[in-house]
Amino acid sequence: MVYGALEAGGTKMVCALGDENGKITEQVSIPTTTPEETMPKIIEYFKDKNIRALGIGCFGPVDLDKKSATYGYITSTPKTPWKNYNIVGVMKDALKVPVGFDTDVNGSLLGEVTYGASKGLEDAVYITVGTGVGMGIITGGKFLHGMIHSEAGHMALLRHPKDKYEGRCPFHHDCLEGMAAGPAIEGRWGKKGNELKENDEVWEIESEYLAQAITNLIYVLSPRRIILGGGVMHQESLFPLIREKVTKKLNGYLKAKELEDMDSYITPASLHDDQGIMGALKLGIDAEAEA
Ligand code: ADP
Ligand code: ZN
Repeated sequence: MVYGALEAGGTKMVCALGDENGKITEQVSIPTTTPEETMPKIIEYFKDKNIRALGIGCFGPVDLDKKSATYGYITSTPKTPWKNYNIVGVMKDALKVPVGFDTDVNGSLLGEVTYGASKGLEDAVYITVGTGVGMGIITGGKFLHGMIHSEAGHMALLRHPKDKYEGRCPFHHDCLEGMAAGPAIEGRWGKKGNELKENDEVWEIESEYLAQAITNLIYVLSPRRIILGGGVMHQESLFPLIREKVTKKLNGYLKAKELEDMDSYITPASLHDDQGIMGALKLGIDAEAEA
C-alpha cells in the first residue's frame, strides 16, 4: 500500500511515498516559493502515484480545528504568499484522497513516538531548534492543539547575564526563538552555529535558554521525555550542558523515575532527520483509517 507524505517547510517541500509500516520508499524536495509556483509541482509529483491518503506536516501557524471554516489553512504566516492558504483543500481537490494535517513539529513528534526511540510514549515534547524554534506536544496520547496549537517556541525567558544580544524575533525580540534559533546564534556571534563548534561561550548561552524553556515545559506539561531535533541540535555538546542545567534548575523539587535518567529524559531525535517526513506519512495512514 502506498501513502503520500508532505513535509511543508518555509524553504522546501519534501514530498515522499511510503508504506503502511513507515518505510519511506522515495522522496524529492521542491523549493518553497509561492503557492502558484510550488503547489502544481507537488500535485504533479503525487498525481499518478496511486496513493491511498496523504499526510501533511506543515509550517505554521495553521488552522487545525476541524469545525472551523478555515480548517487546513496556513493562516497568519509572515511568509506573505502563503497567508490564508488552503493547503489541505487544494491537495484534497487535486488528489481525491483523505488528507491528514498537523504542524510540522507535531509531525516530527508523531514520527518519533510511532517509529523512533520514543515509540509508544503518550506524554512527550518535541522541540526543534533550527531556523525557528517549534514545539510538538503529545499528552495522554493526544496531540495538543487547543485554541490554535503550541507556540511555546516564543515563550519569554530570563536573559543570560552575559548576553547583550537584542534578539531577532520580529514580534517579541528576545523570546526563546529570538534568542536561541539558528539565526539568533548567527546574529549574536556573526557566524553560523556549525562554524562555532569549539566556542564554549556560544553553547553556554544557548544551553541556558534551552534549559530554561525545558524546565518550564516540565512544570507545565509533565512530559515523560523531551526530544530535541533541528539543525542547531547537531551540536552534540549541547545535550550534556542542557541536562546539567535542567537538573540544577529543578533543584530536586520533582521526584519521578524518568528524571533519574537524564540521558534518556532529554534525548536527541532518533530518526536521522527523517522524523518529519515519517510523521507526515503516519498522518496520511491515520487519515485513511479515520475516513
Ligand atoms: P529548518 O528549521 O529550516 O527546517 P534546520 O532544522 O536544518 O532547518 O536548521 C537550520 C539552522 O540550524 C540554521 O540556522 C543553521 O545555521 C543551524 N545549524 C545547522 N547545523 C548546525 C550545527 N552543526 N550546529 C549549530 N547550528 C547548526
Ligand atoms: Zn517570538
